[in-house]
Amino acid sequence: MNNALEKCGRDAASTDLRMEMRRRQYLDALGITRWEPRQAVDASPREVTGTPTGYIAPAIVPAGPVGLEHPSNVELDSRDWTELEAAVRACTKCSLHATRTQTVFGVGHRRAQWMFIGEAPGGDEDRQGEPFVGRAGQLLNAILFAIGLKREEVYIANVLKCRPPGNRDPQPDEVIQCEPYLLRQIELIKPRLIVALGRHAAHSLLKTEVPLGKLRGQRLSYHGTPLIVTYHPAYLLRNPADKRKVWDDLCLAKTVMAAMPDPERGKS
Ligand code: URA
Repeated sequence: MNNALEKCGRDAASTDLRMEMRRRQYLDALGITRWEPRQAVDASPREVTGTPTGYIAPAIVPAGPVGLEHPSNVELDSRDWTELEAAVRACTKCSLHATRTQTVFGVGHRRAQWMFIGEAPGGDEDRQGEPFVGRAGQLLNAILFAIGLKREEVYIANVLKCRPPGNRDPQPDEVIQCEPYLLRQIELIKPRLIVALGRHAAHSLLKTEVPLGKLRGQRLSYHGTPLIVTYHPAYLLRNPADKRKVWDDLCLAKTVMAAMPDPERGKS
């Protein structure tokens, strides 16, 4: 077993031999069984300390986007899950409500330690009302399994709750209108770690346009919750050679998680 696999394997949920065999089959499918150790995996998580020339520092403490007013989410702050789901279902705050089949709220464990955030529902998600159920979702499931997580024990959501027509990129005003829902989900779940899946999710959450490649490998923060950035599974379907990078990112995420205080966070 190579070092990278050992490192993540130590934290893998199951020590059962059959589970391990299955996990390796997933790793094979992901093309990551022969990965060599990589510095970013072994290094301690780092905060951004400098501002290289021509480089906009990632928003460790995200600032609001220039020229766009952020709506108050005060009205959502006290909503419980049922109320929040109802609010999302009835939402008409942006034009996407006119073209959606249904809203895609989020799925998973409501006390999850891990939260994965994608960009927006696609066609399959719009039809089924659940995030990441298409091909990208299947790859996400495989990735989760490979790092010792099950889909049902994490929480999966998107920045946008409605599908942009033709899967076009989310627009800034749509992100602004939808973000309070995501923030309330995070408040309710209190994940220990967020993984932003892909450029759009990372940029929307961090309010930056720093290229994804430069956001990777760092312990960032979204409203106080540690955040790691990685590639979107749909991107990986088109660029399978970058699966190794996702593996490295998730090993970093596990390292960050392991370095955090006790999971007993007083969730009631
Ligand atoms: N891509 C996303 O970003 N989210 C989904 O739910 C599906 C595909």
